[in-house]
Amino acid sequence: MAANGEELMSRTRDTAEVAPTPVPTADYPAERGIFCNRTLNLRSTRAVGYDMDYTLVHYRAQEGEKLAFGYARRVLGDRGWPVDDLKFEARQVIRGLTFDLELGNLVKPNRFGYVMKAAHGTRVLDFDEQRRAYAGRIVDLSEDRFVFLNTLFSHSEASLFAQLVDRVDQHELPGVLGYAELYQAVRNSIDAVHMEGSFKAEIIADPERFVEHDPELPLALLDQRHAGKKLLLITNSEWDFTRSMMSYAFDRFLPDGMTWRDLFHTVIVSARKPDFFFRPNPMYEVVEENLGLLRPHFGAIRKGGVYFGGSAAFLEKQLGVSGDEILFVGDHLYGDVHVSKAVHRWRTALILRELEEELRDLRDFEETQKKLREMMEQKEAIEAEICRRRLVAQRARDGYGPTDAEEADGAEARLTELREQFEELDERIAPLAQSAAELGNPIWGSLMRAGNDKSLYARQVERYADIYTSRVSNFVYQTPFAYWRAPRGSLPHDPG
Ligand code: IMP
Ligand code: MG
Repeated sequence: MAANGEELMSRTRDTAEVAPTPVPTADYPAERGIFCNRTLNLRSTRAVGYDMDYTLVHYRAQEGEKLAFGYARRVLGDRGWPVDDLKFEARQVIRGLTFDLELGNLVKPNRFGYVMKAAHGTRVLDFDEQRRAYAGRIVDLSEDRFVFLNTLFSHSEASLFAQLVDRVDQHELPGVLGYAELYQAVRNSIDAVHMEGSFKAEIIADPERFVEHDPELPLALLDQRHAGKKLLLITNSEWDFTRSMMSYAFDRFLPDGMTWRDLFHTVIVSARKPDFFFRPNPMYEVVEENLGLLRPHFGAIRKGGVYFGGSAAFLEKQLGVSGDEILFVGDHLYGDVHVSKAVHRWRTALILRELEEELRDLRDFEETQKKLREMMEQKEAIEAEICRRRLVAQRARDGYGPTDAEEADGAEARLTELREQFEELDERIAPLAQSAAELGNPIWGSLMRAGNDKSLYARQVERYADIYTSRVSNFVYQTPFAYWRAPRGSLPHDPG
């Protein structure tokens, strides 16, 4: 009988790096939970597809994005742009923000697309400026004007764009006519960094600096594989980079004689997601013994093979699995999750590392949140009383409708008293509301919330990700046999 994941893990090579082996238990930290939008039964999942970058391999975003920023700055400097003094500012942006290419702004919309916070370049707009810019206009991601920041890879691009908007305004960028043109130049520079070899060569040369180990991760995949699921790796990264990163992230935590390759039924590199889900791109086999040379591939997919390109439709056919039998796990809200769900009805899991910090912050804030809620309830009660008294006074004054003469007599004095209470309460609420708004990021606040509502990012997660969680190793706690049930969902008219 095959050894189970736990036994296998206890025979790992490099014990110094292994965290205490997690035995599946209900007692795990709340921030390591798996959260469900749509009911998902992992027992009926036959194949689990994994994205690599920021899904199976987690980069220290600060280091990696600073490096990408530096390379992109060099590309733009070569065009004669004055960019030498620009610095990557990690806290300047969060995932889920949207570029507004018409106005040169970065904005945070709520779930309806209303802008709740905006910055022009690096300058945060005050309330009036923001209202003037976005009154009567909502963020619709289907318009070219808006570009959504889908992944942690977007940080370098957003930080560069914001700083360069300031330079466009100062007329310091030769020949740049507008923000859309600026964005295209920044986009091209980031593209060039990822395509051209030096950026990745630096990561391959010094993985300790860029990649964060997760010793529990291989166990999560071993559990799934031994439960009979076909594991697939579907990454946009090239073969050389994939091989280095996967080996660094997995091999030391696997049992003797086993490498990351033994975990996967099929490996697909240079997949060109989201195209992979739309188009019948040709597939090639990577001939490993021949320096990774590519050979056109048409027929059945070989277990243990490495392929280049291809398409989701071809993969489904060759593996004999239908969309709802595949769970795809990725960090890119559009390229991994939205498109696989919308086009192929794959089941989807979103990996969102920031969730851990977000949930810890929320927990630490719970006491204050409770106070805030109580004060808001008092404020609403006073407000309702003010409205009622005003109406009583109005009816008495104009002589219509039922009213209470005694109450109407003292209405003005009572109204003054209530308004004072209201203002006093408001003053006490303001600093707490301010702290709540700064949870997560001092400028942009939390990833999943915008004001009191869900953020547009949270709305996208809700629509396209069946489940979401901070990291792949969280599957260890819930086993490959888990059944996630969607919550009932609250409505404003629910009693209590
Ligand atoms: P995945 O997440 O495993 O599918 O791989 C992401 C790959 O896309 C990595 O190789 C990144 O270097 C690459 N990548 C990320 N952002 C960009 C970009 O803006 N342009 C081109 N490639 C990118
Ligand atoms: Mg990825």
